[in-house]
Amino acid sequence: SVEWPRPLVAGNWKMNGLKSSHEVLSEIQNGYTPGLKAKVELVVCPPATLVHSFAVACVGSRVGIGGQDCHAKESGAFTGDLSAEMLADAGAAYVIVGHSERRQYHKEKDADVCAKAVAAHRAGLAAIVCVGETREEREAGRTLAVVRKQLRGSVPVDSNSRNLVVAYEPVWAIGTGLTPTAADVAEVHAAIREELKRLVGKADHARVRILYGGSVKPSNASELMAVENVNGALVGGASLVAADFLAIAGAY
Ligand code: PGA
Repeated sequence: SVEWPRPLVAGNWKMNGLKSSHEVLSEIQNGYTPGLKAKVELVVCPPATLVHSFAVACVGSRVGIGGQDCHAKESGAFTGDLSAEMLADAGAAYVIVGHSERRQYHKEKDADVCAKAVAAHRAGLAAIVCVGETREEREAGRTLAVVRKQLRGSVPVDSNSRNLVVAYEPVWAIGTGLTPTAADVAEVHAAIREELKRLVGKADHARVRILYGGSVKPSNASELMAVENVNGALVGGASLVAADFLAIAGAY
């Protein structure tokens, strides 16, 4: 029998978090009750400086740890970069690739994102591949075309439901308090699911988790998580507050 994956709620801490943030992690672990565990997989993606100590702290609690980016290569002369192997060695099980902030501030293209996802798989990590349109693209009616193109360019051919998670994050919804309507989210997630049929294969595509991200809060989580083909959330700002992150996970 094939195990059906639980929804995934992942916290993207971005460039936030110090050693003192272990307190927030402890609160998250304490709130990750057996009942919640049965329903939802929880992952925290702290800055790289905290990946190892967070992973050590989470042994036994089943809260997973992820990186926020990785280099495509395994090692070498790339000052300031981190390989997927290093993240795996530090105890991560996931890595976010292609976040819009990386695409924007570090000029990452789909091919770069794909190479990073390949690296994640090589290292045994699951890649959380982010896609999403800008406000201009949405207003021009190009959302589905943009998202489909990003997916085709960013998802490696060896992807399956265990090593791939897709996060739909409309750029205009990130950190703005704005969210698409449930109908808009349903439309994009259905298009992603259909694209995955081609990319991942007919047998497995239905089990790939498609997260929604962009201004997810306790107050809107139930509505967003109830949308068809929404299999979890990628949470930025609200994931820094344990009670909010847990409330979002509890929306399932
Ligand atoms: P936000 O960020 O929840 O703060 O909007 C989401 C993200 O960028 O992953």
